[in-house]
Amino acid sequence: MKVTVVRNILDANDRIAAENRLLFDEKGVYVINVMSSPGAGKTSLVEKTITALKDRWRIAVIEGDIQNTYDADRVAALGVCAVQINTGGACHIDGNMVREALPALDLDRVDLLITENVGNLVCPAEFKIGENAKVMILSTPEGADKPAKYPLMFQESSVMVINKIDLLPYVDFDLAKARRDALAVNPGLEIFEVSCKTGQGLEGWIGWLAGRVEAFRNR
Ligand code: MG
Ligand code: ZN
Repeated sequence: MKVTVVRNILDANDRIAAENRLLFDEKGVYVINVMSSPGAGKTSLVEKTITALKDRWRIAVIEGDIQNTYDADRVAALGVCAVQINTGGACHIDGNMVREALPALDLDRVDLLITENVGNLVCPAEFKIGENAKVMILSTPEGADKPAKYPLMFQESSVMVINKIDLLPYVDFDLAKARRDALAVNPGLEIFEVSCKTGQGLEGWIGWLAGRVEAFRNR
């Protein structure tokens, strides 16, 4: 019985996400869904991405948090339109929450929509929002065992950004194991090693995203 209920919720969400996707296609908006544990560096990566690409494309951000507007305030300070979704306790954002946030954005004036999910390695991976790509961040202090422990997150994502590589000398993080275990669940996963703090490796991630947005616009 419980399994049936969960299945129905996910089916209903998939329908709403597909409607969001149709709207994004019509408006020419490329959408990424950024996911990670709390503190892995989602907002920092979003800030670096905005700074790198805001002169090229019009960017908007949806910030999902359980409460407060700290992250939305950080990205709005960069001069892009930022909308906050407060999930009121829910540990992920879903298709309906994104749909309800969209009237606050002028999609005719958006080329790239970055959605920052609630910090959580579990259920955000289960809920589509109408994105083109899911991007997950694994930071080195979290440990290299996460791909094996939370396989769905790594399976559903197009990209794994390994953040905080500047901390590698100080933490026990087996880079080879993290890559190997992530690729075991998702052989097509794109992997970038970066430090949002020092800027190291960010050009790989930015180049990947720019290529995707370009291909979408030329579709
Ligand atoms: Mg954040
Ligand atoms: Zn959740």
